[in-house]
Amino acid sequence: MPRAERYTLTVTAEQARVLQKACELLARLHIGQFDEIGPAVNAFEIGGRTGHEHYRETATELRQAIFSKPCERCGGKGSCTSDEGFRFPCGFCNGGGRRPILSPTGSYGIASEEVPDEARVCWDLYSLIRHRLAWDGLEEGEKPNRMLVCYDDPTRLSKEPQAKIERNG
Ligand SMILES: [Zn+2]
Repeated sequence: MPRAERYTLTVTAEQARVLQKACELLARLHIGQFDEIGPAVNAFEIGGRTGHEHYRETATELRQAIFSKPCERCGGKGSCTSDEGFRFPCGFCNGGGRRPILSPTGSYGIASEEVPDEARVCWDLYSLIRHRLAWDGLEEGEKPNRMLVCYDDPTRLSKEPQAKIERNG
């Protein structure tokens, strides 16, 4: 049962844009899209394309380490020995004691039962803010490009009531 309190947060367009981005990133982390860390902090600008490619492997390893569970074969003791290493979905933990539950390139769907509702709260806020800023960004008389998802009605995937955003000023 969602609680009854409501809060109003008054922000500038720039603050709204940053909130949108933060909500998107946290939602993407929850579903295992760790590759999005680089773009979120402008990896291209910092390290160029090679910098971006370099972090990818580390992002995948970090994701695999977080989305893992104790190895069933050795009960998490890490006593398995095999050349197979840290692989998905089967194999041995190769002494690590943990096994990945997401494939190296896979991620969960936002609606998946494996994903906490917090991810959907983030996604709903992201899509709400994106929608408002997209419409407010149109020039007088400009028609929105309805092929773009940002002009569609915001999602409501979480258990929370729909949040509201309106332009004042
Ligand atoms: Zn093991």
